[in-house]
Amino acid sequence: MTISELLQRSVELIASDSAVIDTELLLSHALGVNRTYLKTWPDRQPKSDQLNTFEQLFQRRIQGEPIAYILGNQGFWSLDLKVSEHTLIPRPETELLVETALELELQTHSSVLDLGTGTGAIALALASERSDWTITAADIQTQAVALAEENRAAHKLDNVQVVQSNWFNALPVTHYDLIVSNPPYIDRDDPHLTQGDLRFEPTSALVSGVGGLDDLILVIGQSISFLKSSGWLLVEHGYDQGAEVRALFADNGFAAVETRCDYSQLERITFGQLLR
Ligand code: GLN
Repeated sequence: MTISELLQRSVELIASDSAVIDTELLLSHALGVNRTYLKTWPDRQPKSDQLNTFEQLFQRRIQGEPIAYILGNQGFWSLDLKVSEHTLIPRPETELLVETALELELQTHSSVLDLGTGTGAIALALASERSDWTITAADIQTQAVALAEENRAAHKLDNVQVVQSNWFNALPVTHYDLIVSNPPYIDRDDPHLTQGDLRFEPTSALVSGVGGLDDLILVIGQSISFLKSSGWLLVEHGYDQGAEVRALFADNGFAAVETRCDYSQLERITFGQLLR
């Protein structure tokens, strides 16, 4: 079977909006080539071991496994990051958090904390843009810490230190200029958890009690002990949590509290400045 025949047959079998791109990504991965190759050589016939590899990857996709887990990597900001089933797959919404953090008025040599770093996405994106910032990336999961460290080393971002900590528990008492976090924020009974990519992602990175606010309450409440006066806190949250999150910021003494919407016009990022 030729490359073009294979692509055509396979696209028809995947029930996904991204069937064409998914199939091209899986086939180019199995062949060890880039996607341009598939367009340039549509009449080539892959070898049988390549076909077997493709078939295995393709079956995983048919079962609904996210493409990022099958390929083992995901683009985020300007970085290619390794991902695994132990961490959330970095999402475009979270790039908005990075963008917002870069717009804050911060000193050249700021110290920054990323809580629940997962793949390291937020910390590493910030580090790639601000080489003079000193960034701590923390996660409770051993596998996430190892993965974030691997991503850090791959991109040679020496201004990031990856540490294991259950939120603030194992961190030294330091005062940061900026704390960022994309904590779990989904309601434990949210039906979306049984649909799409979420089925394959770790519950610990997604779910946060009834209403999904448990970890946001903890992060916002404890952050005030770890921020410099006039330090900033920036969090990602659920599309329907904006009002509650702004109230939590205000109750904890934050000023200039603001929420930004994501690309779907849903409230997604809230930030504020601690004034004391
Ligand atoms: N943004 C993700 C989703 O709704 C959830 C990420 C999270 O819980 N931090 O699919």
